[in-house]
Amino acid sequence: MAKAKTICNDNNCPVHHSLRTHGRTFKGTVTEAKSAKTVTVQWQRKHYLPKFERYEKKTTRVHVHSPACIEAKKGDIVKLMECRPLSKTKHFVITEKLGADYAFLAREELLLQAAVPEKEKLKEETNEEKKDVEKEDEKEEKEEDVQ
Ligand SMILES: [Zn+2]
Repeated sequence: MAKAKTICNDNNCPVHHSLRTHGRTFKGTVTEAKSAKTVTVQWQRKHYLPKFERYEKKTTRVHVHSPACIEAKKGDIVKLMECRPLSKTKHFVITEKLGADYAFLAREELLLQAAVPEKEKLKEETNEEKKDVEKEDEKEEKEEDVQ
């Protein structure tokens, strides 16, 4: 493991502090990085179905500790290893950042673009409703004037 240059204050860092790792090493994409020290990492695996003599794609998704020195962002490809339980659902730690998953980032961008027009449509609809209400108000006012 190559030592990162940044000074690390995270006690649960396998590179700069004494967090021990064991078990298997996995490689995955960071899909969620909203928390301070926890990220969600997912990767694909193949599961064999004997009946159909083919593989099905399955996704493994785990919570992973992201030490301060690694600064994992959404869309990063990371190497992770199993460690002692750090919280109720977290027993993996990132050991290395390998690069960016451009396919994942591109897909996320497309999803965002697809989501925008729907929101605009909703806004237009609500605006039209408001206009109708305003017109009705005007009518009522006119009627009052007549009386
Ligand atoms: Zn560190």
